[in-house]
Parts: sequence; C-alpha cells; structure tokens
Amino acid sequence: MSTTETTATTGDIRPRLRWGVLAFVLLVLAAMALAIVVPKTGYVLNISLQATTYATAVLGLTIVLGLCGQINLAQAAFFGLGAYAVGIGQTEYGLNFWVCLLIGTSMAAGFGALLGASTLRLGGHYLAMVTISFQQIVTLVLINWIPVTKGPDGVRAIPRPGFLADGSTYLAFCIAMLAGLGYLVWRLRDTKLGRAMRAVRDNELAAGVAGIDVYRTKVTAFALSAILGGIGGGLFAGGFAYVSPDQFSFAESVVFLTMVLLGGVASPIGAVIGTGLLILIPEWLRFLKSIPGLYLAIYGAAVILIVLFMPDGIWGYLRSQLDRFKRAVLPSRSGAALQMSGGGEGAETVMEVRGLSKHFGGLKAVDEVDLTIKRGGVHALIGPNGSGKTTTLNVLSGLYRATAGTVELNGQDITDLPPHARTKAGLGRTFQNIRLWRSMTALENVMVGAERPGSAVGNDPAALLARARAALAFVDLEERADEVVANFSYGHQRAVEIARALAADPVLLLLDEPGAGLNSSEKVELRNLLKRISARGLTILIIDHDMTLVSEVAQHITVLNFGRRIADGYSADVLKHPDVIAAYLGTAPDVPA
Ligand code: ADP
Ligand code: MG
Repeated sequence: MSTTETTATTGDIRPRLRWGVLAFVLLVLAAMALAIVVPKTGYVLNISLQATTYATAVLGLTIVLGLCGQINLAQAAFFGLGAYAVGIGQTEYGLNFWVCLLIGTSMAAGFGALLGASTLRLGGHYLAMVTISFQQIVTLVLINWIPVTKGPDGVRAIPRPGFLADGSTYLAFCIAMLAGLGYLVWRLRDTKLGRAMRAVRDNELAAGVAGIDVYRTKVTAFALSAILGGIGGGLFAGGFAYVSPDQFSFAESVVFLTMVLLGGVASPIGAVIGTGLLILIPEWLRFLKSIPGLYLAIYGAAVILIVLFMPDGIWGYLRSQLDRFKRAVLPSRSGAALQMSGGGEGAETVMEVRGLSKHFGGLKAVDEVDLTIKRGGVHALIGPNGSGKTTTLNVLSGLYRATAGTVELNGQDITDLPPHARTKAGLGRTFQNIRLWRSMTALENVMVGAERPGSAVGNDPAALLARARAALAFVDLEERADEVVANFSYGHQRAVEIARALAADPVLLLLDEPGAGLNSSEKVELRNLLKRISARGLTILIIDHDMTLVSEVAQHITVLNFGRRIADGYSADVLKHPDVIAAYLGTAPDVPA
C-alpha cells in the first residue's frame, strides 16, 4: 500500500516537472532563434552578449550567496580570470578557444576553492574583507604584470571558434550555455549538496551536528561559483574580442552582487532577471545623460526602491504572488514504519565518558565528569541552571573541544572528531534552543538528517524520501511535510528537530531540554513521543527540568552541580539522594511509585 501511494505522489509531480522543462527548452530555442534570425545593430548584439555572459557569472552568486549564504565580493575577479585565459591563451600562446576556456575555468575553480578555504577561520564581515582583498590583488596583477597581461592596454583581437565566428551565432551559443548552466543550478537546489548548502546557510551549527561537512560544503560552493564566473568571463572575452583590467574591477563585483540581489538570490531565474534589468536600466535612462548626475541618481533610486519593496528580489516577489494561486497538493503518506537500528537492550555500553572537562578561562563549566550510558533506555542528565549540562552535550557532540577527558561511542574514540564525523559515528542530538533550517520545509530538514554519510539510504532517492517521510510520520507531522518550518508552532518545530535526529538512525540520541518552551498540551505530546522512542529501544540521553517527566521515562540519572557529578545511578535512588535534594530539588520530589 505504501508503495502505491508514494508512486502516486511522484507521479503527480513528475509531469509538472516535465512540462516545465519542455517549456524551458522551447523558450531557450526561441531565444536562440531570435538571436540568429532577427536583424540587429551591433548595439543590440553587444547589450545581449553582455547580459548573457554576465548572467552566467551571476548564476555563480546564486550558489555561493543564494544557496550557501556566503558573501563573495570577488566575482568580477573570477570573471576576469576566465576572460584573460581566453584572451592571452589564444593570442599569445596560440591555444584553442576551448582549451583556454577550460584553463580559465580551472584557474577560477582553484582560486575559488582557496577563497572558500578561508571560511574555515573567517565568516561574515571578515570573509567579505578577504574576498575584496582577493579582488584587489587580481586587479593589481592584471594592471601591473605587463609582460603577461599587457597591463592597462588590455588584450586585443581575441578570436572565437570558427563555427561561432558570426556574432549572432555566438550569442545563440552563449544563450544556450546560460540556459544549460541555469538548469543545472536550478536542479542543484534539491540535491544532497544543495540541501547541505541551504542547511549551512540557515544554521551552520545544526548543519555540522546533522552530519554535514560544513567546511567542505562552503569550499565547494565557492569553487562552483568561481567556475561559473570563469565560464562567463571566457565567453565575454570571445564575445567582445577585447579585455582590459577595468572591466573586472571591484566595482564590477559590486554590480554582480547587486544584480543577484535585485533579481532574487534564491533562484537562477532571479539571476537572469537582475542581470538583464541592471544592464537595461542604464540604457533606458540614456536620454537623461545630458543632465549630469541625474541619470545616476535615478538609477540608484530605482535599485534601492526595488530592493526595499522586494526584499527577496524581483523573482522572489513574483514567486510569492504566483504561490497564492497554487493549488494545495494533497499530502502523501508513506505508511512505512521508521526503522531504528540503534535499538537494543542491556549491559552493553554505548557511550563511555571519562574525566570530561570543559573550562572557559577560569570557569570550570564541566569538571572531570564520568558518564556511562548503557544501550537501550533513557539516561537523564539533570542539575540546576548553569551546572554544565548543555556544555557537556556540546563537548559530546563536538561543538566544543574538551579541555580534558575522553569520549567513546560504541567503542570508538570520538574525543577529537568534528561534529559531522560524530554524527556519522552514530550520534544524534537536538538543541535547547531549537535549531532548524527555517527556510526549508519539514521534509527537507528531515531529509538532510536521513542522508548523513554512511546512512542506510545511501544514494537511493526513493529510500531517502521514504525514510524522511517515515521519520515525520513517527512524530505525527507527515501532513505538514511540505511546509516551511518557520511557520510551525514551537512544539511542532521541536518534533521536526527530533525527527531530523531520528532520521539519521543514531545509536545514541542526545536531547537538550526538549520540553523547554512547550505548553502543557505540547508537553504531553512530547512525553508520548519520548515513550514511543524508548519503546523502540533507542538509547537516549536527556536533559530536562521536568522531574515528573524524568522520573517517568528515565531508568538512570546523572546529576551535575557546578560542573561536577554529584550523583549517578538508578533513578529512584538518585532522586532520594540527600545531596541531590539539597543541591537541586530543594524538597523531596514527588516520585510516582
Ligand atoms: P546548563 O545547561 O546546565 O544550564 P550550561 O552548560 O549552559 O549550563 O552552562 C554552564 C556554565 O558555563 C555557565 O556558567 C555558563 O555561563 C558557562 N558557559 C557556557 N557556555 C559558555 C561559553 N561559550 N563561554 C563561556 N562560558 C560559558
Ligand atoms: Mg542548558
């Protein structure tokens, strides 16, 4: 039954996709035909060539900024690398156009990856500064390395392949390239890499903990973006037969960035719209050029107004208008039960923590804590506010490096592994302050969890989708699979976060105050959910203040106070321990028999 229903939904989506692709192909063919057939002055041809090659480079920003959320103020430098490779390679070294394009693109990819590598230590403003510096270095080299680059004079008489010698044919070719690359960028969004990039953009910390190699994802995004910049630049050089340093300056990088923001950073269509507009608006305003300054003022005001009233860009705005007419798609049910392979019983140790410490300067947030977690069942970590519970979890999941101590998971020493490698080793967690990827749907959030490296679903898209749906079904949210999680209630967001961790099929699930911020009915649902999980035998380490919940679900309790372990053992014994009562509970708890 489950299979027929799953097929029914995919069958529902595929024809729409196919029609979309068909319409897209027809549109591209029409544009190519128009480029060849319609008689044009050199002026129209030049504007079109510029728009097409620029748009190719702007597509790169759709990836690095739109998908991955990383600022790149050096796109003109990558554009320039491609352009100069095609220029110098052909005129000086007599290389073939395509070989030059490949060289330029590879150089751009290499430097792009290098720039991406700087994200290991830098983010935000610092990253912006590094990209600007790279841009300035490239400009300086182009101007001053005269023997190779010809300096400020630029490179002239750049040829293009024989069969593309005619300007119109070349334009048609560039349109086809843009369309093909645009299609790839569009498809990238819903691949494993695309989801990883969006996860990094929305919440980097959660991305690492969900098993994504954040660093590698960023480097890839930068490299892909640079490749598109390089291709655009190479085509630009072939189109205009002349390149000079001023065409690839910092100002041009800002123009590229404005283009993508104006059109809509989230989609390749936005990149094309933004590029087209920003090239056309100055042309439309040409009649104002007799009054100095006025043209620039109107141009600037137009851009500011568009960005102000359409924060998601023009395409983002159009999309939101179109979405209002979209018919609601009936949610599908997978029907399949969520497989949990981490379950089990008994004496076996899942996690062994020895002498774990985490010091912040003089503050011993966690101080020589031992923790042994047995397979199956629920182990609670309790203690007053500030006693080091969250810090312990952060060290266990690799967000903080331990000051001292060792952590073993399933017999494997994970003390020095980065978060994503711990997830691969079988660790799952949720956060005290929910960390979902807010602009992604519930299903997409859970899919990222399910596709952690080494997971059972491997590269099978159907298995991935089935597992993600099953995880959502497990937390009773399958009906809302395709909604963006930012619109969810707190309780439902918490449930998605748990589903995301479960989808990765962990051997140990760490839950940091899952009940925090929930209202009473949501707490009841959470309690039932925890019971359903533990009934499947999955091992859980839970932090919670709700003593009723803890005493109901936990068989084993560890108590922290001022970063030190003050009690550890079976729940009933620990809750009666005088130190625990004094430090934490104040009065004897109401433990149900
Ligand atoms: P709990 O989760 O038990 O309420 P935490 O683990 O969040 O407690 O905090 C334990 C102690 O460590 C607190 O005193 C807190 O202020 C401190 N602490 C936590 N994280 C940091 C940090 N990143 N830098 C400095 N001090 C921190
Ligand atoms: Mg905490």
